[in-house]
Amino acid sequence: MTHARGLSMRELLARGDRSFSFEFFPPKDEAGEQQLWQAITELEPYAPTFVSVTYGAGGTTRDRTVAITERIARETSLLPVAHLTCVGHTTDELDAILDDLASAGVQHIMALRGDPPGGPGTPWTPTDGGLTYASELVSLIRRRPDMRIGVAAFPEGHVDAVDLEQDARVLRDKYDAGAEFAVTDMVLRASDYVALLERAESAGADLPIIPGIMPILNLRSMERMVEFSRRQLPQEVRDRLTPYAEDPQALRAEGIAIATELCEALLDAGAPGLHFYTLNRSKATREIFDNLRITV
Ligand code: FAD
Repeated sequence: MTHARGLSMRELLARGDRSFSFEFFPPKDEAGEQQLWQAITELEPYAPTFVSVTYGAGGTTRDRTVAITERIARETSLLPVAHLTCVGHTTDELDAILDDLASAGVQHIMALRGDPPGGPGTPWTPTDGGLTYASELVSLIRRRPDMRIGVAAFPEGHVDAVDLEQDARVLRDKYDAGAEFAVTDMVLRASDYVALLERAESAGADLPIIPGIMPILNLRSMERMVEFSRRQLPQEVRDRLTPYAEDPQALRAEGIAIATELCEALLDAGAPGLHFYTLNRSKATREIFDNLRITV
């Protein structure tokens, strides 16, 4: 596996390389900041294709996305990808953030709409002078020839999508606007990811779609997260984890085993890589990587 700061994701994948990437979020306090940098340091030897830093729903963590991606660019060998959302920003503000990122040496952006302030599934109201859809943010970023753009895709459709075909057309719109790659929300079944690839291809969204992986380390918190996007944990996953409901260590081990099998199935199905939602901890991701015997 190689990564090269100068290459776009499309160029990397065209070379036959698969993309392995890790996602972090901006922490709220000093203890969280230390945990984040520990995870980044422990994962750097795995030479991921890129690492991405999410953009908060509001408040001070937003500035930290710029600061963290800047520090990753300056102090590590890693390629940083900064997430950016349309929530609460005018177009001028978005342009100013893009200026800051560009001058910090951050050229890869995940262009997202963001969830409504009331949470997923609540009504979305665009900001006055701002943007309504992620495809518009892609167009805004596309005006900067040096910037490379990723977008979100959803294995079971976005929570507000009219149907799965409309969901695929939205991905095509983002591709048409200039997105070079997509990363999915966490995949729960390999078959959902394969169906998404088929829909994307039929809709003409001709971009690499990297599946998102989040191992189940705690059943209740994963159930809450999945319900947030009005999905359900597959029954076969529940059946494997329920016997360990009272044994957190055994449950964690089974969660890692399930995630490893899912990764293998996704790569076998032709996934161009894997994107790990690390929650700012490295251990589970390292265990899955080691299980997969991905060479670095
Ligand atoms: P869009 O592509 O704009 O889609 C949003 C909704 O609008 C969909 O229901 C879509 O069907 C509909 N739609 C789009 N275009 C049209 C159109 N032309 N006409 C009619 N309907 C349309 N959130 C954060 O706040 N910060 C993050 O850092 C972050 N990172 C993420 C990373 C990944 C990989 C993923 C999968 C999600 C991430 N999210 C993040 C969550 C994301 O912002 C939400 O899921 C959001 O609700 C949708 O964002 P989007 O970019 O897919 O929006």
